[in-house]
Amino acid sequence: EADMLNVCAIEVLAAEDARLLAYTPGLDDGLFEHDGQITKREVRALTLSALAPKRGQLLWDIGAGSGSIGIEWMLADPSLRAIAIEGNLGRAARIRRNAANFGVPGLSVVEGTAPDALAGLSAPDAIFIGGGGSEAGVMEAAIAGLKSGGRLVANGVTTEMEAVLLAHHARLGGALIRIDIARASPVGRMTGWRPAMPVTQWSWVK
Ligand code: SAH
Repeated sequence: EADMLNVCAIEVLAAEDARLLAYTPGLDDGLFEHDGQITKREVRALTLSALAPKRGQLLWDIGAGSGSIGIEWMLADPSLRAIAIEGNLGRAARIRRNAANFGVPGLSVVEGTAPDALAGLSAPDAIFIGGGGSEAGVMEAAIAGLKSGGRLVANGVTTEMEAVLLAHHARLGGALIRIDIARASPVGRMTGWRPAMPVTQWSWVK
């Protein structure tokens, strides 16, 4: 079972005549075990780009869901380390399975909710906030915990989280982008664009 996803990935690539399983950010969502709470591949690719890992760095993946961000961070280079913080126990167990299946069992999983669960963790070089960012004290604890010169990337799909991100951008600067993806899918016997919920992303260097 440990090799199932790798086998799957290799088969996907083999179908496209690839000889090697090469890593690029934005792996197919279907390669991860998930319950729908996953940063979709296109958004994940842009998120890893904004996180911009450098050799040896440590990531906090807050509200880790399936673990896809922390896992892709670790796949980018064997020197990279990540801590996944997830408040839902079933999802925390799923993160461990995904990490094992992707060959990054060193991903550390903290079962608990931010901000409390962040106390005592090693200071990170980068932080991703994919969940919990609109809850009291989470953004503040992340900003306080981040190393000086470190990068913070936070995604929001709700208006509540977007309001938090707009306020932080107004106060601290950084970069704000909005990611709008639409997928072509059947409309009767024709095809039409189905827009996904827009994602607001704030990136900032401490
Ligand atoms: N980036 C993830 C998806 C995140 S979904 C992926 O690609 O898989 C948001 C997650 O945040 C959910 O799993 C939810 O349980 C978690 N969450 C919400 N508030 C939280 C908090 N305060 N602390 C930790 N996890 C939290």
